[in-house]
Amino acid sequence: MMNKKMMVSMVSMVCTAALLMTGCSVSINGLPASSKSDNTVSEHTVGDYSQTMTDEAANQFKDELSAFEIAAEQRKRAASNKAGYSVLDAGRGNPNWINSKVRSAFTRLMDFANEECKLVMDNGDMAEHGNKYGISERFAKFMNPSDETDRFLLDAVDHCEKELGMEKDDLLFEFTNGIIGDYYPDPSRCLSNTEQILNEYIERALFNGKEIEAGTDIFPTEGGSAAMCYIFHSLNHNRILEPGDKIAIGTPIFTPYLEIPNVNNYGLVSIDISADKDHNWDIDPAQLDKLRDKDIKAFFLVNPSNPASHALSAQTLERLKDIVKDNPDLIILTDDVYGTFVTGFESVYSALPDNTILVYSFSKLYGVTGWRTGLIAMSRNNVVDRLISELPDEDRKALKEEYAIAVSDPDEMKFIDRLTADSRSIGLYHTSGLSTPSQIFMDLMALSHTTYEKDEYVEMANALVNERYNTLMKALGLEPDMSGENARYYALVDVNALIADRYGEEFAQWKKDNVSDLDLLNDLADRKGVVIMYGPGFDAPEGNVRISLANLNSDDYKEIASRLLELLDEYYEEFESGLEDEAA
Ligand SMILES: *Cc1c(COP(=O)(O)O)cnc(C)c1O
Repeated sequence: MMNKKMMVSMVSMVCTAALLMTGCSVSINGLPASSKSDNTVSEHTVGDYSQTMTDEAANQFKDELSAFEIAAEQRKRAASNKAGYSVLDAGRGNPNWINSKVRSAFTRLMDFANEECKLVMDNGDMAEHGNKYGISERFAKFMNPSDETDRFLLDAVDHCEKELGMEKDDLLFEFTNGIIGDYYPDPSRCLSNTEQILNEYIERALFNGKEIEAGTDIFPTEGGSAAMCYIFHSLNHNRILEPGDKIAIGTPIFTPYLEIPNVNNYGLVSIDISADKDHNWDIDPAQLDKLRDKDIKAFFLVNPSNPASHALSAQTLERLKDIVKDNPDLIILTDDVYGTFVTGFESVYSALPDNTILVYSFSKLYGVTGWRTGLIAMSRNNVVDRLISELPDEDRKALKEEYAIAVSDPDEMKFIDRLTADSRSIGLYHTSGLSTPSQIFMDLMALSHTTYEKDEYVEMANALVNERYNTLMKALGLEPDMSGENARYYALVDVNALIADRYGEEFAQWKKDNVSDLDLLNDLADRKGVVIMYGPGFDAPEGNVRISLANLNSDDYKEIASRLLELLDEYYEEFESGLEDEAA
């Protein structure tokens, strides 16, 4: 038998494994965990861990804590499925498309930058840093305006000059130096022109035409995963979120948001703010109103959501604005990774810039999960900076001493710069920041969206997931949700409702009594070679499964539907033979 302490550490081991799997802990190496107490637990995920930890219970924890871990198990089962079917893995959210234009542009820009260096010194494999003087003319000469990739680069640079008021030489020198990558990022947090380019991108892609009055600071990070880790860590480190504090989480949600509050001794108490099918995966006003409670310090949400893949409605954004009037210190963290999959999307950040920290990642839209490119954006007039300035004197003093090793005026150091410093344990502030070639690559992705009036690539990505979604729903015999808020990057399918619909209530009840969600997913892998994800692992209701629409082609979704229905038919046969046995 295990005692409570052992169980706690087991839970956190499982959590850590889950985070590793989602790539989340890679970037926080060396960050010291808070030394505060470990006596608070999430009100929802960890639940009552004072019960005896049998093997079964241990497994149950695992089930609840990591949908990703369960999918890994199914992947193994699917590989040797009994039907000998080819494996169809719709678990992962990794897209199976990539943006080729930005990759070609990166290569061309690297070639240009290298040539620039060779102009200064060309000695075997050795060259020297390039020159800013005259770089625009050399760029114009190097690029061929009738080549598609070069045309884009020429147009993008023109766009930066004309629309963003940049100095061409300065921009091109940032590009070439950045892509060559022989200087530490300077400024550490974000290269200067890059910050402007990324600002225009998020404004165009996520703000639905709104401008941020105070202006936006940006910290490019190693993907959205690192952004999340940095934010949790720095909010804790700066004593804004302390053990025992209440935070709200918009559920169902991408699992790390359920897990991180419980690990690293953050000791946060999470409250669910749940979206549900009855409200078409928007948040019920009564749920949202929980945020009026001033005891709730922060609200974490993914918008458009994962797994439900729905954006908050305009009404919900309006209600949130009203709620913040009651709870003006509320910190909202919005993860808008899927924002571009909803036409006319508006971020919570542009609705409530001063209360919101925005996380964005290029991973999904551009097919760049391996590049690790994301960002944190904050208004220059944000609530976190105010809360830091209002901390008790002793806390301010302690923080001042720590940040004094990095900057000369630590009291004035903005939270977003503290995030940057914290990402390298403060002491390595001067070598912090995202690799400069990655920053330039982010510029190219951003400029592929902003240079021209219309972005056909985004439209194609939307059309692609749309088609897959419609194919899947049709093959399952389900009504597609045509609402504008539906991002269709994932489909959250209620299998129990599907069963009731196809086979009637009696069988639906039998299935609920005899086949758990996990049994169904295991059977689907074992017998049919299909991997999809466990909804309750994201805090979705029992019976829900998440099918990723990102990583397979349309025909595969038809096939997934048909294999799922095959399995349900097999269950139905079992059910009927049971009835016959009873009759006999
Ligand atoms: C995929 C995903 C991420 C991960 O982003 P990376 O940039 O690949 O680290 C973050 N948030 C959500 C909601 C995601 O679905």
